[in-house]
Amino acid sequence: DPRIARISSSIRIIPDFPKPGIMFQDITTLLLDPKAFKDTIDLFVERYKDKKISVVAGIEARGFIFGPPIALAIGAKFVPMRKPRKLPGKVISEEYSLEYGTDKIEMHVGAVQEGERALVVDDLIATGGTLCAAIRLLERVGVTVVECACVIELEELKGREKLSDKPLFVLVSST
Ligand code: IMP
Repeated sequence: DPRIARISSSIRIIPDFPKPGIMFQDITTLLLDPKAFKDTIDLFVERYKDKKISVVAGIEARGFIFGPPIALAIGAKFVPMRKPRKLPGKVISEEYSLEYGTDKIEMHVGAVQEGERALVVDDLIATGGTLCAAIRLLERVGVTVVECACVIELEELKGREKLSDKPLFVLVSST
């Protein structure tokens, strides 16, 4: 798709952020290009509009940028999946491991119903740990995760393999 080149070149790489040795993929420069931002959303909407998806689950923080416009365009609800102690209501949570230690994501109880069909959205998949935890959280409450969608995949980290049978759709692969 000719739109991918513009999206790809609008993403900035910041070396040594947030710590030495990390090449941080910065999508804020994509947001500065209205055509690239719109193309990004359109590509996801074209893929998901007829897939009977009732829930778009966005992962904090950058899943909150790409998830809501997709949800509005396909007529789905948007559910934020947040870092611990951010959501004010009763939550269910799912732990996942980081390089050092663990983290958690949380979702409001009652945000989704058993039998719903969800798309999980984030800006980037690295090791896949975050998306895996999001999938487990949704599946625990009886939701079918149809697919995960990210703007960027860091291919070398093989996060896709961690998702095992769950389809992953990305716009840009980075090696
Ligand atoms: P994973 O759990 O290892 O797949 O890491 C993915 C999570 O870390 C996502 O929520 C991303 O937003 C964030 N992340 C990791 N590396 C980057 C990066 O280079 N740019 C933007 N976000 C990143």
